[in-house]
Parts: sequence; C-alpha cells; structure tokens
Amino acid sequence: MKIADNIRRIETELDGRAQLIAVTKTKPVDMLREAYEAGCRKFGENKVQEMVEKYPLLPGDIEWHLIGHLQTNKVKYVAPFVALIHSVDSLKLLQEINKQAAKNNRIINCLLQIYIADEETKFGLLPDEAEDLLNEPMLESLPNIRIVGLMGLATNTENEIQIRQEFRGLKQLYDKLATINRKNVQFSELSMGMSGDYLIAVEEGSTLVRVGSAIFGNRV
Ligand SMILES: *Cc1c(COP(=O)(O)O)cnc(C)c1O
Repeated sequence: MKIADNIRRIETELDGRAQLIAVTKTKPVDMLREAYEAGCRKFGENKVQEMVEKYPLLPGDIEWHLIGHLQTNKVKYVAPFVALIHSVDSLKLLQEINKQAAKNNRIINCLLQIYIADEETKFGLLPDEAEDLLNEPMLESLPNIRIVGLMGLATNTENEIQIRQEFRGLKQLYDKLATINRKNVQFSELSMGMSGDYLIAVEEGSTLVRVGSAIFGNRV
C-alpha cells in the first residue's frame, strides 16, 4: 500500500485523539518527501547522525522528533532544530540539552523516557527516579529546557493485555507527575504507541504515537 494511503488510514483511526509522528529511521529521503506530501509534519528519527543528514534535505516546517537514546556528546548536533527529545533519562543529559539550547537561543522541549517494559534492553527511568528528577532543585538553573511529559515503550509482545497494562501504568504516572508545577515542567504530552500497539496506546491516553513500519513498510 502507498505511504499516503497508510497515513490517511492511520489519521482516520486516530481521529484527532493523538498526533502522528512518522518514524522515518532507515528510510530514504524520497519516502520522507512522500509522507510530507501526504500531510505529515512530524518526523521521528532514533539516531542523531541520520536526523542531522536528513534535516537540510527537507522542508523547513517539519518538526523533528528525536526518539532514540541520546548521548550527551551528540546533543549539540540536534540542538539548533530538534522539536522534541523523547528520550531524556538523566539530569546530566538535561544539563547538556540546556547548555546547547542556550547557545542556540531557544528552549528545547523534552520528555522523560520511562521504563515500562518487561525487557532488559530498554532504556528509561523508573517511576521514582522520574519523580525525583522532576523535583530536583537543580532544574531551577536550566531555563532553556522544558519537560513536557513522558515517553515509554511497551514490551514487544503479542499479549495485548500486558501492553495495555503497561500503557495504563504510564498514564497513571503521567497524571501523578502532571501535578508538579514548576517553571520548566509543564506536562501536555504522553508519547506511547508504535505500529503494533498505537490503537491501544490511544485508548489509554497517548497524545503522540510514533509509527514507522505501518506507514513505510518493514525495515530491513
Ligand atoms: C523504531 C521506533 C518506533 C517505530 O516503530 P514501528 O514498529 O516501526 O512503528 C517507535 N518508537 C521508537 C523509540 C522507535 O525506535
């Protein structure tokens, strides 16, 4: 099926309940253009280098979302243009994002990545660690970052009950942490759901779904 058809189908399913981020990692720029023509303005990449390479080749009104693990030494490459960093998991990383955002005279929006999956390999903070980070006094000294919510990846399983439970837990944590009221902590986004589970995620309160293969086909 064509990219444009896939996007239209998914947008219809979402029905305005969540925003679609087209995950374009490993896909050639031609395919990104096709998605752009079909109306997509939010693109997600998981690698800094790939995002930095694609960014200048595409229209300037695209929002670039960094969804993969971010090393502190690479923040400077995306700081000039990134719209939202979904994968923040430490104070050290926030400090570096703040520093690079200040250099570019901007405020960079961030999500805290929360560990919700029953898997060893996924990055993220535990709920208590996220709460501690949001209450960290040092955040006062980071005026160029804004933490706008949470991100999580469910376990890669066919078990929909488990996936739903993981998303529901993340939404509960989101609701709890959203009561924290600080200048640079203003919750509005909950990033959860991928090709295999975005409909469950939206039912459980996602505001941003990150969908790759259901739009562009499987990655090889
Ligand atoms: C690759 C990726 C996605 C999209 O995965 P699909 O299953 O292809 O939709 C979503 N989120 C993250 C963090 C990813 O790395």
